[in-house]
Amino acid sequence: MARCDVCFRHCDIPEGGRGFCGARISEEGRVRPGNYGRITSLALDPIEKKPLRRFFPGSMILSAGSWGCNLRCPFCQNHRISWSAEAMALRDRTEFLPPEALVRLAEREKRRGNIGLAFTYNEPLVGWEYVRDASALARGAGLKNVLVTNGTAEIKVLEELLPFIDAMNIDLKGFSDRYYRDILGGSLEAVKAFISRAVGACHVELTTLIVPGENDTEEEMLRMTEWIASLTDREGRSAGCDVPLHVTRFFPRFHMTDRPATNPDTVRKLAKAASRRLKYVYTGNI
Ligand code: SF4
Repeated sequence: MARCDVCFRHCDIPEGGRGFCGARISEEGRVRPGNYGRITSLALDPIEKKPLRRFFPGSMILSAGSWGCNLRCPFCQNHRISWSAEAMALRDRTEFLPPEALVRLAEREKRRGNIGLAFTYNEPLVGWEYVRDASALARGAGLKNVLVTNGTAEIKVLEELLPFIDAMNIDLKGFSDRYYRDILGGSLEAVKAFISRAVGACHVELTTLIVPGENDTEEEMLRMTEWIASLTDREGRSAGCDVPLHVTRFFPRFHMTDRPATNPDTVRKLAKAASRRLKYVYTGNI
């Protein structure tokens, strides 16, 4: 048995077994990332798709993902590589792409407007060692590094990566413990700690998917943006009001098909409420 301390779950993994995320393996009393370099998705995307709106707008970024996730969002749009049975079946079918090879690909794509690497699609931090190794090489090659994460990794993992990461989009999926715990299998406290440390350390944007009946009240949005606005950098300077927030529309999919897509007017109304405290608020998927 070995304990994994990469995220808030702190899985005790029996010898030869895998943690809750499906990505980390216990071997000879140690936990290692079983998805290291196993790339399931690779695409040159507009940076706005991450989404990042205030970090090199108009550029492209080579985006890579593996498999595995430590949350259980029932509406996951990437369920084929995150936590479905299909995702777990990918484990034995993916090619190994060493960090050096990924960085070479990123350099080759400069001619098509690529500025660097984005670690995205599944939850990158369940295999954070690959993010560290590839982003360190990319930084050395003069490329930018972007992390798209659910923000539930432990702070010590974040600290390992901050020297190499230029920008992040972090999900702040709602602002109630109930929603994070009962619907997403997550931890609001872990996400708040992660965001608090990241803001001021690199460029940070946040994303909130508005799900009907779960996190779609103005009251919750106001509480959430009040908290974001209160964030400071390491020197205690106010930084929260400058953090861009993406307020996006839910569509029924995967295991959550019991409700309609979010009314676009609700997304606009909540974005307007968010704008009372934050300077940069964007709507998405409407
Ligand atoms: S990263 Fe995976 S194995 Fe480690 S604690 Fe989180 S869910 Fe468990």
